Amino acid sequence: MPRPSDKLRIVPKVRRPAESPAGVHLHPLRQAEFLTTAAEWVQLPAGGAPEIAFAGRSNAGKSSAINALAQRTRLAYTSKTPGRTQHINLFRLRSGALLADLPGYGYAKVPEAMRRHWQHFIAKYLAERAPLIGVLLVMDARHPLTDLDWQMFGWFLPTGRPMHVLLTKCDKLGTEAQRHTLDSVRTALANTFGERSAQVSVQLFSATRHIGTAEAEAALASWLGPLAN
Ligand code: GDP
Repeated sequence: MPRPSDKLRIVPKVRRPAESPAGVHLHPLRQAEFLTTAAEWVQLPAGGAPEIAFAGRSNAGKSSAINALAQRTRLAYTSKTPGRTQHINLFRLRSGALLADLPGYGYAKVPEAMRRHWQHFIAKYLAERAPLIGVLLVMDARHPLTDLDWQMFGWFLPTGRPMHVLLTKCDKLGTEAQRHTLDSVRTALANTFGERSAQVSVQLFSATRHIGTAEAEAALASWLGPLAN
């Protein structure tokens, strides 16, 4: 017999970690292995495995985020050499899905011709890459929503697929500033994209302090579905 007080018990709302329906904790990027590098469309893997792309402004903290989620110190690494800024590095996840580490954008020393090449390649990649199931966009929480970040939304959201934003280096902000940044990014996206902003989720993240890891893993796992296991 349930006691009357049981009905009144308030169950605290807890944020669910990355879990499968069976309750198994998921870490979709762990055991990721480097697969290949693509500088041109034809070099992208042809197998049709689902692909998740990580994008972000150069120095935003993308490599650190990948390494933190993969629990590796140097799986992804930043190369500030302009010649490497055109490459997409691909990693194979344990599930067989692929992680595409897109070249960081906005690096000041990249020559104009290379910048244009990158823009065409990435715009085409985001709009037309059939196996791409979602894009994780890394932004420095102190400088979110740069012009190029807006372009990424503009290129990818028309596909109808989801984007997840990591506002990283949040350890560099106080609690109040973190909350304000999170709110203002969500509001700006809602004001700009209206209903389409429902495709975008946003969270705080810190690679160095391991803040937001489970939330990011849950977003990636939800895209991969049963594959994440
Ligand atoms: P990428 O160019 O986007 O791949 O950026 P990196 O991952 O190489 O990071 C750029 C710089 O920011 C490096 O000096 C990192 O150590 C630093 N960084 C990255 N993530 C964090 C973070 O979460 N917190 C702090 N405090 N620093 C970070």
